[in-house]
Amino acid sequence: MAVKEFEKPILKEYTPIPELVEEATSHLAPFKSKEEFQKSLGYPGELVENWQEVALGKMGDLLKKYRSLRVYMDSCIQCGACTDKCHYYLGTKDPKNMPVGRQNLMRGVYRKHFTLPGKFFPKLVGAVDLTKEVLDDWYSYYHQCSQCRRCAVFCPIGIDTAEISMAAREIMDSVGVGQKYCNEIIGKANKIGNNLGLPKPALADTLEGLEEDVEEETGIDVKFPLDVKGADVLLITPSADFFAEPHVDGLIGYAKVFHEAGMSWTLSSYASEAANFGMFIGSYDNMRKLALRIRQAALDLGVKRIVFGECGHAWRVAYSFLNTLAGPFDFLDPRYPVPQHICEVTHDLINKNILKFDKSANDGKVITFHDSCNVARASGMGDVMGGQFSLPRDIIKATTNNFYDMDDDTIMEKTFCCGGGGGLLTDDLIELRMKGAQPRMEALKRVVEDHGVTHMAAICAICKSQFSKAFQYYGFELDQIISLHQLVGDALIMTKK
Ligand code: SF4
Ligand code: SF4
Repeated sequence: MAVKEFEKPILKEYTPIPELVEEATSHLAPFKSKEEFQKSLGYPGELVENWQEVALGKMGDLLKKYRSLRVYMDSCIQCGACTDKCHYYLGTKDPKNMPVGRQNLMRGVYRKHFTLPGKFFPKLVGAVDLTKEVLDDWYSYYHQCSQCRRCAVFCPIGIDTAEISMAAREIMDSVGVGQKYCNEIIGKANKIGNNLGLPKPALADTLEGLEEDVEEETGIDVKFPLDVKGADVLLITPSADFFAEPHVDGLIGYAKVFHEAGMSWTLSSYASEAANFGMFIGSYDNMRKLALRIRQAALDLGVKRIVFGECGHAWRVAYSFLNTLAGPFDFLDPRYPVPQHICEVTHDLINKNILKFDKSANDGKVITFHDSCNVARASGMGDVMGGQFSLPRDIIKATTNNFYDMDDDTIMEKTFCCGGGGGLLTDDLIELRMKGAQPRMEALKRVVEDHGVTHMAAICAICKSQFSKAFQYYGFELDQIISLHQLVGDALIMTKK
C-alpha cells in the first residue's frame, strides 16, 4: 500500500510541548471494516439509516452499564494536567489528541443528550449534536488513541481516556462504522483461533521447524508441543511468536525455560492466540467469545495451569478480566493463580535456583527495558506491588551484565506508548504510529548516547512489531528490539538433554 509522505519528526534531547496545530491529523483515520467482517461480529454492515438514534441509544446503555463512563463524562474540571501527557499530542501537535480534547468529543454529545444544562443551555456547557461531522471526528480521533492510560496517571481525578475511546468505538461499531484492522483480526481469531489465520497444520509445521532449529543450535531436543492432552501447562501466546523475529526468539526462550525446569507444557491449536482485540473495540461480547476459547482449550487438554506469553494487552485482558469473562477456573491446580505470566514462571524458577545463567552470553548487548502500557498501567504481576515493573527487570538483571533504565518520567507507570497499541498497528495509520513513537524514541536515544545501550527488550508483541518499524524510521537498527525471553533463552545454561 502506498503511504502518503508526511513530515518526519526530528528527535530532540527532551520532548518539547508543541505549539498547537488545529486539525493537524484530522486527515488520519483507519480503513473502515467491510460489511462481511462487521456482520460476523454482530454489527450492522454499514452506517444504518437511523444511526443517530441507534448511537445515542447505545451511549445511554453504556452510561448505565459502566458507571465509570458517566463519572468520566461529568467530572473533568478542564484543569489541563493531561494535555501534554499523550504521545500522540506530543507527536502530532493536534489539540484533539490532547486527552481532554479527545474526551470532549464525546463529552459535548453527552452534555447535549444526557444532561439538563446541555439541553437548555448548550452553548454555555459546550454541548453539541451528534452530527455526521462529529461522527467523522470520533472515527478519526478515537482511532488516534492507543488506550494506553498514560493520561489517567496524571489526571487528578483519574479520568481514563482509554475507557472513553473504547466506548466510542463500541458505539461506532453498533451503527455500522467499524475499523477494518481490528474487526478483520477478531473475525480470523474466531474462525481459526489466531490473528494470523494460521491453521493447525501450518502451526504444527512451524513448531516442528523450531524444534529442528533449536536442536541444531544447541544440540538439545527442546520440544514445542501442540495439543498435548494431559500436559501441565497451557501456554497462550501471541501468534506473532510463531514465526517473526524478534517474537519467535521469545517463544524459543519460553520453551527452553520449560525444558530446563522439566515442566510439561503445550500450545493449543484451538486457542493459538493470546491477543484479544475485543478489548480494543470496547466489546465485552467479542472479548468474552475470544476468552472462552482459552477456557475450552484448557478443559479439552486437561491442563493444570494457564500461562501467558509476552503480549501486553493480552495480559491486561487475562489479569483484569479473564476470570469474569471465562471463569471460574476451579478445574485448574489451586496452587497457581489464574492466569500466570511467563515472567512470573521464569522469575519463580530463578528464585528457586532451578534456572542458571551464563550472563556473558549476552555481553554483546547493553539493554534497556520498555514497559508496555497495558502491563504497566492496567495489570500487575506476581504477588508484590509493582511486580509488573520489578519482575521483568529482575529477569534482565539475572541474565545480563549491562542494563540501564530510560529516564524516570518515561518508564514504569509513566511509560510512553510505543505508538502502535490499542488496535492501531496498521499501515493505514503509519503517520500516526511514527509520530506517536517520538517520545519513546527520544528517551531511547538518550540512553543510547549516555550509556551505549544497544538493545531494547519488551514483553509485548505489538510493541515489538511497532518498534521494528519505528527503529528503522528513526535511524536505529531493526534488530535492536528484542524479546525479554530472548535474553533468557540465550543465557540459560541447559543441563537437561
Ligand atoms: S489513553 Fe493514551 S493515547 Fe489515549 S489519550 Fe490517553 S495518553 Fe493519549
Ligand atoms: S487532567 Fe483530568 S480533569 Fe484535568 S483536564 Fe485532563 S481529564 Fe480533565
